[in-house]
Amino acid sequence: MIQDSGIASLLRKNIRLLKPYASARNEYSGDARIFLDANENYRGFTSHQVNRYPDPLQRELKEKLAALRGCTPHQIFLGNGSDEAIDLIIRAFAEPGSDKAVIMPPTYGVYQVFADLNDIETIRMPLQEDFSLDLEGLSILFEHRDFAGDLKLLFVCSPNNPTGNAFPHGDILRLVNSFPGIVVIDEAYQDFHDGPSNLSLIEKYSNVIVLQTFSKAWGMAGARVGMAYGSPEIIRVLNTIKYPYNVSVLSQQAALEALDHAEEVVREIDVIREAREKLSRSLAELPYVEKVYPSEANFLLVKTIHAAGLCSSLKQQGIIIRNREHEYRCSGCVRITVGSSEENRMLLDALQSITLEKERT
Ligand code: PMP
Repeated sequence: MIQDSGIASLLRKNIRLLKPYASARNEYSGDARIFLDANENYRGFTSHQVNRYPDPLQRELKEKLAALRGCTPHQIFLGNGSDEAIDLIIRAFAEPGSDKAVIMPPTYGVYQVFADLNDIETIRMPLQEDFSLDLEGLSILFEHRDFAGDLKLLFVCSPNNPTGNAFPHGDILRLVNSFPGIVVIDEAYQDFHDGPSNLSLIEKYSNVIVLQTFSKAWGMAGARVGMAYGSPEIIRVLNTIKYPYNVSVLSQQAALEALDHAEEVVREIDVIREAREKLSRSLAELPYVEKVYPSEANFLLVKTIHAAGLCSSLKQQGIIIRNREHEYRCSGCVRITVGSSEENRMLLDALQSITLEKERT
């Protein structure tokens, strides 16, 4: 937890001193009759209205989203997927070559890749055998005198990819209260989780950023719109360092339209959750499946006797699942997304036709 109210002391020095680029549409945002400020073409040539640059701060979309999530537009950053937010958060807070980010494998691989890309060392504090947080190990780490000053970021993915479990709110709160830097809580799969979101933490804790996305429950992976929620101070920093027009006109329109279908989305989430449980039961009956892990997301982690063999057999039948056997504590595991009822039925038909032998090691 940050003692003083500001986050300035945690920012990278060059980011603290950065003079932001102001795009034409940053400088003027009202209703004018004629826009001759951004070197656009006055006409377009497709059926989409894309000849004008988008609103760089996506104000209409943020207003609507803020109303849904019970926060203010100034607490929302919108990016080219939440992946963009992950990259920007690392770039804003971690000094290359010296600062460190804590990740808890097995987890979403992008944290490691973007940390590497930004020359940020990662400290890996694995989840326990049952995929719960190693709170004791983390607390020792946070107080370790060789690290404590350099620990800038902690990534907590809940529900976690690829394990599917969500961490108890109380455990996350403990981390927020004890971590010396920014805690990023990635809630990409929260819509599928029965338990409460951690979003309310941004009101009280200036070191918390919560990530969500339109890619999963909202059915918009192709549009690339993700959210980071945090204090207005953090959001201002992310807006300063993002690409000037990072969310396209088409993507903003699609997200605005999706928000009009919020009730339908909620109904579909129920359908997916029910299908997940049904699929889980059917998978558990297959002779080569050793365990189906409980899931609060829209996928299942499944331990098999031969992950690579299963993936290639399914591939021959035109069905692609994800081999996760090389992830920490995931030997023999595959990750399967819950599809439509038709897709799930075809998957199960294919799985029942497959015979697998235990992988030789
Ligand atoms: N976080 C997690 C845990 C994910 O699994 C993903 C995508 N697979 C993302 C973030 C990125 O989502 P997007 O960039 O599509 O918003």
